[in-house]
Amino acid sequence: MQEAMINRAKQLLADGTVNRVIGWKRGEFVYDVTPAIFETAEELDAEFVYDDFTAANVSKYLVKECKKEGKILAFLKPCDTYSFNQLTKEHRVVRDNVYIIGIPGGPKLDAEKIKAKGITGILGAKNDNGTFVIETLYGEEKMPYYEALSTKCESCKSKKHVVYDELIGDDGEVLESDRFDMVEKLENMSAQERYDFWREQLSKCIRCNACRNVCPACTCEKCVFDNPDSGVENKAPADSFEENMFHIIRAFHVAGRCTDCGECSRVCPQNIPLHLLNRKFIKDINSLYGNYQAGEDTTSRAPLNDYKTDDCEASIVHERGVE
Ligand code: SF4
Ligand code: SF4
Ligand code: SF4
Repeated sequence: MQEAMINRAKQLLADGTVNRVIGWKRGEFVYDVTPAIFETAEELDAEFVYDDFTAANVSKYLVKECKKEGKILAFLKPCDTYSFNQLTKEHRVVRDNVYIIGIPGGPKLDAEKIKAKGITGILGAKNDNGTFVIETLYGEEKMPYYEALSTKCESCKSKKHVVYDELIGDDGEVLESDRFDMVEKLENMSAQERYDFWREQLSKCIRCNACRNVCPACTCEKCVFDNPDSGVENKAPADSFEENMFHIIRAFHVAGRCTDCGECSRVCPQNIPLHLLNRKFIKDINSLYGNYQAGEDTTSRAPLNDYKTDDCEASIVHERGVE
């Protein structure tokens, strides 16, 4: 797959279709694969990577990149295409300035889950019939395949690309996902148990802002949390109120726009399952307004930006002056 992607990227650079490529390159460690821009065939040959650790969604980078001179080639996994569509719908990216190649998605690996097994010095990993065989500095290690999967791939909602100019590999289908199972478990807790669960999680937050910065739904040019008059501008939470506030406000801001891409939880250095908060909103929107998947298309009206005469929020359609 990596070789096919590099070859096609070189062709598109050579024939002038695009003048740069957004893909991924390796960082300090083999599992540290991060988005990067490539402008030449030599750069692609030297550094372009697409492997089991390539989980990052490059859609958000396109908000800035698509405003530069010339067209950019972007490789998008199925889940990433939902983010890109949502950004198109919100006029945050210029569709015509991006040449999209849809590529097969995961499942991708989470190096933290491998390290949590006490396996360090990771040099590479391969799936051998359900067993991950991990090559390390200290020899070969093994662990069950499913225990190393990235959380966002564990409950993948779709292998279908919802936008692309061409595909490498086959397109997939929307999946029957169990992604709301944990939300239901939380709903079935008592209010106190649920509060305790979220307090335990959110108290770990160091306000590094990685979840906001990676989130394709968080593209405000001036984020409320960057307001110097807010008292909470880019600082670690001072107390439990501030810990809760950041996440509850952010969840409300992305409600109806979150595509469930899972990037927020993937990048959190404190392993806070932020996606569960957003999934609760998605589940509630589905039950109140009918099934809706953000990013599935670029034309439908989002439930929270639209209303009907039988809207579940009745006050929104009352005539002016009528109680
Ligand atoms: S990424 Fe994690 S630690 Fe950082 S601000 Fe978000 S929740 Fe807090
Ligand atoms: S809130 Fe999380 S899951 Fe939703 S769009 Fe943002 S990064 Fe993706
Ligand atoms: S937290 Fe709210 S204001 Fe800040 S970038 Fe996200 S959506 Fe925008």
